[in-house]
Amino acid sequence: MEISKRELAIALIVLLGFTWALSAQAEARQGAIPLVRGGASAWHVSLMPGYSKIEALAASEFVAYVQKISGAHLDTVAETQPSACAVRFESASGKLDGFDITANQKVIRIQGHTSRGTLYGAYQLLEDMGCRWCGVGELAEVVPISKDISLPAGKRVQRASFPGRSVVPYYDMYHANYADWIKFLARMRINNIYAHANGSLADFTKRWKEARVKLVPLLEERGMVLEWGGHHLAALVPRELFRDHPEYFRVDEKGARSSDLNFCPNSGAIGELKQNVRSLFEQLPEVANFNFYADDLMEGGWCHCPKCKTLTTADQNMIAMNAVAGVLAEVNPKAAVGLAAYHDYEQQS
Ligand SMILES: [Zn+2]
Repeated sequence: MEISKRELAIALIVLLGFTWALSAQAEARQGAIPLVRGGASAWHVSLMPGYSKIEALAASEFVAYVQKISGAHLDTVAETQPSACAVRFESASGKLDGFDITANQKVIRIQGHTSRGTLYGAYQLLEDMGCRWCGVGELAEVVPISKDISLPAGKRVQRASFPGRSVVPYYDMYHANYADWIKFLARMRINNIYAHANGSLADFTKRWKEARVKLVPLLEERGMVLEWGGHHLAALVPRELFRDHPEYFRVDEKGARSSDLNFCPNSGAIGELKQNVRSLFEQLPEVANFNFYADDLMEGGWCHCPKCKTLTTADQNMIAMNAVAGVLAEVNPKAAVGLAAYHDYEQQS
């Protein structure tokens, strides 16, 4: 559906009107702190000396959007205690990404329950000002324009209900703008992005390695966890090996060796799998959660050789997954590997 510029403008105006109505209600209810008046501010942004990358981003995002809205520039200062008129960003070492915001006429204090929580507190304040991120990229960004900015006084607490909140931009078309996805998802308080391959594993790995110089710093300054992979277990036992090692491959439902799907988990295929997945783990130290799923079938696709025929799909997959997890424990013990448990992988022997 094509949306004309006029329709987009009307939608934005309606959204802004709604946003400011909400802000006005908050001010009337709780009292307002004048952060910017007439395009100028007496406030500054305050960070603890030795602040983290994530706290630095919280401060810089806050400063950038206050300036976009009003034209006012707030200096950023490292100080042990917040001085007068400080917007103070600081973090506790909790487990869930919430935050406390305590605001009075002297200090606006954002205390993240984690450092990610501090960043989310900055986004909450920007939303209080009327900023909205309705989608990925600048076109979906709504920033009100005003020479005056007020924030609600009082204390508020937001607690995260889940430690992990993940989004999977799946298709190839998303890869070109992963940087915008990372920025957008952090603003939505998503702390895990799953870079899911849907082409060949070799192509996806190459594309990721080309992009990571740009993407990994974006992930780090948002504290975002990187999950990576897809249905590529079979690709880790290259099909070209069939000519010299047909025994690596599955015996199909008709009793014939075939390189069509998965492989024989009771063969030298496991050694090949371990060698290839080790290489991948070594190339991708930035990944926290790996996924190498078997072929995506409703049922079957595994081996019926004499050694395998009594094992279920789930059993055969588990042999492969244990091999993968064992290598990962050696190469990158802090990382994890996911186990797909759906279709006939749910069936236990
Ligand atoms: Zn077998």
